[in-house]
Amino acid sequence: MQQDNIFDAAIIGGGLGGLTLSIKLAQQGKKVLLLEKETYPFHKVCGEYISLESWDFIESCGIPLKDMNLPIISQLGISAPNGYYLQQNLDLGGFGISRYTLDTLLFNQALKVGVVAHQNCKVTAVQFEQNKFTISSSSGTFKSYYAFGAYGKKSNLDLQLNRAFTQEIKQGKDNYIGVKYHIKTNFANNLIELHNFKDGYCGISKIDQETYCLCYLTTQENLSKHGNQIKEMEAAVLYQNPRLKKIFTESTIVYQKPLVISQIRFEPKPLIEQHVIMLGDAAGLIAPLCGNGMSMAMRAADILSKLFPSNCEDEQARALFEENYRKAWHQNFSTRLRVGRLFQKLFGSTQITWLVIMALKPFPRLLKKIIASTHGKKF
Ligand SMILES: Cc1cc2nc3c(=O)[nH]c(=O)nc-3n(C[C@H](O)[C@H](O)[C@H](O)COP(=O)(O)OP(=O)(O)OC[C@H]3O[C@@H](n4cnc5c(N)ncnc54)[C@H](O)[C@@H]3O)c2cc1C
Repeated sequence: MQQDNIFDAAIIGGGLGGLTLSIKLAQQGKKVLLLEKETYPFHKVCGEYISLESWDFIESCGIPLKDMNLPIISQLGISAPNGYYLQQNLDLGGFGISRYTLDTLLFNQALKVGVVAHQNCKVTAVQFEQNKFTISSSSGTFKSYYAFGAYGKKSNLDLQLNRAFTQEIKQGKDNYIGVKYHIKTNFANNLIELHNFKDGYCGISKIDQETYCLCYLTTQENLSKHGNQIKEMEAAVLYQNPRLKKIFTESTIVYQKPLVISQIRFEPKPLIEQHVIMLGDAAGLIAPLCGNGMSMAMRAADILSKLFPSNCEDEQARALFEENYRKAWHQNFSTRLRVGRLFQKLFGSTQITWLVIMALKPFPRLLKKIIASTHGKKF
């Protein structure tokens, strides 16, 4: 008999990976615990463009996207740091919705399907012993048969689990920062643009509430050179691209203070740590310019929910589950992450970015192929 006070699955982190995994497992009748350190609703640094590959999956979680009048994005524009521009149809395309809206809808849906959720609850340690996990948090201690790390690109838990990459103390160009604004502006509903500047790029596309998301990634070094002053760096570096200067100076910012995150890194990470199974950014962060980190987190949730053992007490099932997930994860994501890392490097350099865009302009099918290599099919 299964013990009443033990959860089948404890999910650490309530972003898109954790929320959708919790819903899918609860829909199967599993006893699910979700722990999130923030309190919904809250904003997140993210470009908020979601590849259409995950539209059906989000609807299957119980979110009626089709009734929400969301912008469908079918065109991509890319500019080099000097403003040189190319525009192209997107084969699959995407849609826009703020994380503030989507994460909150999913959280409410998780509660509806029976997930036991704690907000404002920071997990401080995860320990595996005798086929069970003990999870320590600011809301108390919990037990589960399986534990999932859906805690995003960086967390105190990486250190607690002693993950290999936490030992590498690198500075400078390998550390990135992300900055996000919501703006009101005059911009097409069906277009996403990616504007490059020295050591970074900035995306703009429509989301819900007649608002646009303006979000960029650059190096920590770039910010340091400008006295850690965001506005100063924007004026000195981003405005060198005339298209970005126009957007920044001719739009109304919805919340004046930008949302900023630091220490973003793109190196490979181990997929399973001390039997804690990682998904989303905790398993590996794809370069944001590929525009599909969110779909990858949700696709991993879909894969995990389909592989999840029917009997959580069966000790033999764990090894098979982990092995099958490893295989499926590499099949689905390894190539995307490699291509993403390559492009992340190319788009850092002013000259190379310009040359790449010039070279691609006459070959729209080649650009489509490159985009396709960082995306998956609908699921
Ligand atoms: C600048 C930038 C722009 C991007 N733009 C796009 C884009 O346009 N399209 C796209 O598809 N992807 C984009 N991405 C990537 C995308 O944001 C991520 O891939 C996606 O959010 C990953 O989801 P996740 O569930 O793994 O993590 P997250 O959504 O980050 O969720 C992790 C959650 O875990 C919680 N947490 C962390 N530690 C703990 C703890 N100890 N205890 C409890 N909770 C914890 C956090 O509060 C957070 O809510 C972008 C990324 C960046 C950096």
